[in-house]
Amino acid sequence: MRLPAAILLTAMMWTWASARPLFFGESRLGNACLKGQLGHPAVFSADLPPQLRGRSYSRPDFIDWPLDYRAWEKEHLKYFKKTYGESSLNFKPSMIVMHFTVVPTAEQTYAVLQRRKVSVHLMVDRDGSTYQLMPFDRRCNGAYGVNHKALSIEMVATSESDLLSHPQQLFQSFCCVKYLCAKYDIPPEKVVGHYEVGMGVTRVPEYLDMADPYYPTRYPPNEKRTDPGETYMRWLRAYLKADPPTGYDL
Ligand SMILES: [Zn+2]
Repeated sequence: MRLPAAILLTAMMWTWASARPLFFGESRLGNACLKGQLGHPAVFSADLPPQLRGRSYSRPDFIDWPLDYRAWEKEHLKYFKKTYGESSLNFKPSMIVMHFTVVPTAEQTYAVLQRRKVSVHLMVDRDGSTYQLMPFDRRCNGAYGVNHKALSIEMVATSESDLLSHPQQLFQSFCCVKYLCAKYDIPPEKVVGHYEVGMGVTRVPEYLDMADPYYPTRYPPNEKRTDPGETYMRWLRAYLKADPPTGYDL
């Protein structure tokens, strides 16, 4: 038996309306209502590439792999005093900086960080495994210019194209950012790429370098950064816009 067109149309509209929060993931109320029954909604933003559509946020698991950051305390305290006028290594983060490692493996990256006494908070491996290298309430020195404000997240990749070819790693990095934004109430516009930090105060107003008399407002030309790349940042921002951080992410 054929349904009258009006009933069919109503039924279609009802289906679309009730499915909409699930497919678009843009309604906080929708997310909240669905959370209890269905978990987090899948995100189908047209601004995301096909390999990243249809995935749902899940709270990231962090594997502890601490750097020897405590042993570097004295020189890091000196650095924070000189560069930012800060006398404490503890903070409440208000920004996130994204990086890729250039070094091809997590193990090699860890060794380089240790050797150079460089600290970052997270390292996301190619398969999505996520290592926590130091506590989130302790300042790192991974992105000079904003280390007084920012968490730093490294992704294991030799280049942006290498990074963009690992969807599991990409989506895991998005989940890490969403989680940390929710946890520390960091607005998505305060998530930046390292190359943007390098542009200095014109791009990142928080940029501060009290130690460099020649380039106090941006990176010197020979210190230019390209990580993690414009495409990565565009995809990350599209994801955060489609599925904004909320208290339900914690
Ligand atoms: Zn970097």
